[in-house]
Amino acid sequence: SLSSHTHESSSSKRKVIAVVGGGLVGSLNACFFAKRGFDVAVFESREDIRQAKVVRGRSINLALSHRGRQALKHVGMEDKIVSKGIPMHARMIHNTNGKRSPIPYGKKGQYILSVDRANLNKELLAEADTFPNTTLNFNHKLHDWSPKTGAMTFIGPDGQRKELQADLIVGCDGAFSAVRKQFLRQSRFNYSQTYIPHGYMELTMPPKDGDFAMEPNYLHIWPRNTFMMIALPNLDRTFTCTLFMPFEDFEKIRSGDEVIRFFQQYFPDSIPLIGVEALKQDFFRLPAQAMVSVKCSPYHLFDKCVLMGDAAHAVVPFYGQGMNAGFEDCLVINEIMDQLDENIAAVLQEYTRVRVPDDHAIADLAMYNYVEMRAHVNSKYFLFRKYLDNI
Ligand code: FAD
Repeated sequence: SLSSHTHESSSSKRKVIAVVGGGLVGSLNACFFAKRGFDVAVFESREDIRQAKVVRGRSINLALSHRGRQALKHVGMEDKIVSKGIPMHARMIHNTNGKRSPIPYGKKGQYILSVDRANLNKELLAEADTFPNTTLNFNHKLHDWSPKTGAMTFIGPDGQRKELQADLIVGCDGAFSAVRKQFLRQSRFNYSQTYIPHGYMELTMPPKDGDFAMEPNYLHIWPRNTFMMIALPNLDRTFTCTLFMPFEDFEKIRSGDEVIRFFQQYFPDSIPLIGVEALKQDFFRLPAQAMVSVKCSPYHLFDKCVLMGDAAHAVVPFYGQGMNAGFEDCLVINEIMDQLDENIAAVLQEYTRVRVPDDHAIADLAMYNYVEMRAHVNSKYFLFRKYLDNI
């Protein structure tokens, strides 16, 4: 066929794209680049999570919305992911008396999906793996790279250093990106990073009599002015509850009894559902995790490198748009590749031009809602409606 002929005749010159980071955005991005016919090499510092017993990530589940779905659709993954997602048609607000009131999302029929992060990542890696022009390299941690030559140094599985070369490095290595370090050494690179005073902790609500302990098709919220808990459903009929609270408040809770007292005061209806003993233990299983907001510009360095996903724009999770924006990044650069005929230097410049303002807007909106939540302590319903309109 014509396409295979073109493929063969150009294969000797096929550009090599190194995707650093095989998380959500890196693995999706690999599919996009592979589909275009580039030679793609993914380098991920973790082991292959498809074989791992325990998978660590930034959250157990997350909300997939329209932006993210559009990107998945483009690589033929939308149906597969949506079929394993749980629609959330509304928020369910829990007050301190245990009263629940639903607030729908947008118009009738509109919903967002609760998806399992580990499964989503596994499916995307599996999809990337189906392309013959893609290699997945696990246990490869980027140590450094040279903007002059494009040479990357990895620490390989055996602890040895490995030098590798690519035509383009795509930094998808998350909020604490190693790729981004070289950007910080360049003139006229803007960068800011802000930790918010809140941390988050995940707690599991098991099934009750074999079924979901609460109404499954909702994003449950316990708004409490300066802090809150939310819960998203999982396919195994558990809920993952996430408590967002200032670190200094987390630090005040030191014993199992104090956990129960705290929950009795603020989230009483959740105690029997999570279970007293589980609550006492799980609260201390892992320390509360920090949340950082990162903004930078430009997103590219010459024709050698581009940052995408959290590496370019980590946002606080109060808008539920971090991954969704990262997925949209992949779609946007793909469109620009079409427009500019894969001229990498031009594509990266245009990508920065169109994408920085949009990603910065999402970071601002997420941070704005977080600040407003703390400040307007007496208008919680209104506030949470407003904040949740954007999840
Ligand atoms: P990551 O998921 O962080 O992946 C980065 C990958 O790079 C990892 O696999 C890591 O191992 C690898 N890596 C790191 N360093 C190196 C290195 N030096 N060399 C090689 N590999 C490396 N977003 C939503 O859209 N909806 C939500 O509901 C939502 N909820 C969230 C809830 C919480 C509590 C948090 C913290 C975030 C939430 N997010 C949500 C945001 C979302 O988690 C991120 O935006 C998303 O994970 C970004 O994907 P990524 O691939 O860019 O980065």
